[in-house]
Amino acid sequence: MPANPLRVVIVGGGFGGLYAARALAGSPAAVDKSGRVIVNPDLSIPGHPEVFAIGDTAHVVAPARNLLGIREKDPMLLPGVAQPAIQEGRYVARIIRRRVLALKPPRPFWYWDKGDLAIVGRVVSLNSQGCSLAVAAR
Ligand SMILES: Cc1cc2nc3c(=O)[nH]c(=O)nc-3n(C[C@H](O)[C@H](O)[C@H](O)COP(=O)(O)OP(=O)(O)OC[C@H]3O[C@@H](n4cnc5c(N)ncnc54)[C@H](O)[C@@H]3O)c2cc1C
Repeated sequence: MPANPLRVVIVGGGFGGLYAARALAGSPAAVDKSGRVIVNPDLSIPGHPEVFAIGDTAHVVAPARNLLGIREKDPMLLPGVAQPAIQEGRYVARIIRRRVLALKPPRPFWYWDKGDLAIVGRVVSLNSQGCSLAVAAR
């Protein structure tokens, strides 16, 4: 816990945030091959509980649950797409809120993997389960 629990830095500038995150992490060992900052299970930067990296800025390996809420066997490296970024942002907001209220921190971050959807042409989409369906399009 930082000396002042209200002092928090969040780095979430997408790829634009990589330089700031690297500078804050202060060690080349703390980034992956793409330069994303490797974070703790609570998305803070190792050695800096007051600094969080989220979204495309962060290398996050987290336990995941599928669409039905069933826990996956192994933790997964989260892809650089919108859902992890959104869920990570909400999680860090919860941590900060709980710090401000002097409450116990939440459990480590886990990812709700709702699957992927690709739109092919104007009338077909594919989801990660391999099904296809028609979508309304003009
Ligand atoms: C072409 C493209 C298509 C994509 N398509 C999909 C898709 O279909 N589905 C999907 O899930 N994901 C998609 N993604 C990925 C998705 O956009 C990102 O994973 C997601 O936006 C990451 O969110 P973020 O908050 O980390 O970063 P961003 O959404 O990039 O937000 C970062 C914000 O920080 C701001 N910023 C940057 N530097 C600074 C600075 N120095 N000072 C102040 N502000 C700064 C930026 O202007 C931006 O608003 C796509 C990405 C690209 C590039």
